Amino acid sequence: MFEDLNDLYQQVILDHCKQPRNFHELPSANRSAQGRNPVCGDQLKLFLVLDGDTLRDISFTGSGCCISKASASLLTEQLKGKTRADAEKTFAQVHELVTTGQSAGDVGKLAVFAGVHKYPARVKCAILAWHALMGALKGDAEPVTTESEQD
Ligand code: ZN
Repeated sequence: MFEDLNDLYQQVILDHCKQPRNFHELPSANRSAQGRNPVCGDQLKLFLVLDGDTLRDISFTGSGCCISKASASLLTEQLKGKTRADAEKTFAQVHELVTTGQSAGDVGKLAVFAGVHKYPARVKCAILAWHALMGALKGDAEPVTTESEQD
């Protein structure tokens, strides 16, 4: 389905799609946000235990395409235990990565999404969980939707 993504990247995405990490509700969450991408039909809910400025625990539930699930799964894996500042920095890096194919700094496994910029319709799938995370950090009550995004 993604001819231009190399095999390793495809494997990581398929692995996280089939076996998403931290894929459950989080009863102790003190923040949560929903994200919807009507174009693709992706919807997810992100749960967050915010302890001061530390993202103590993160999980998600929902349904959607492989890209959206893998992105959410990798998000939870990468940001658990990190700070709000780390999360905001990583959001900016991922946003740049999926829209341009490049990002400043090391994004770890999230580099698997570099090829997504060649598929404009998939950019919203890849960034959905990240918008939900930013919504949860801000404490937004309204669901976030990719349709308010210009890119
Ligand atoms: Zn999608």
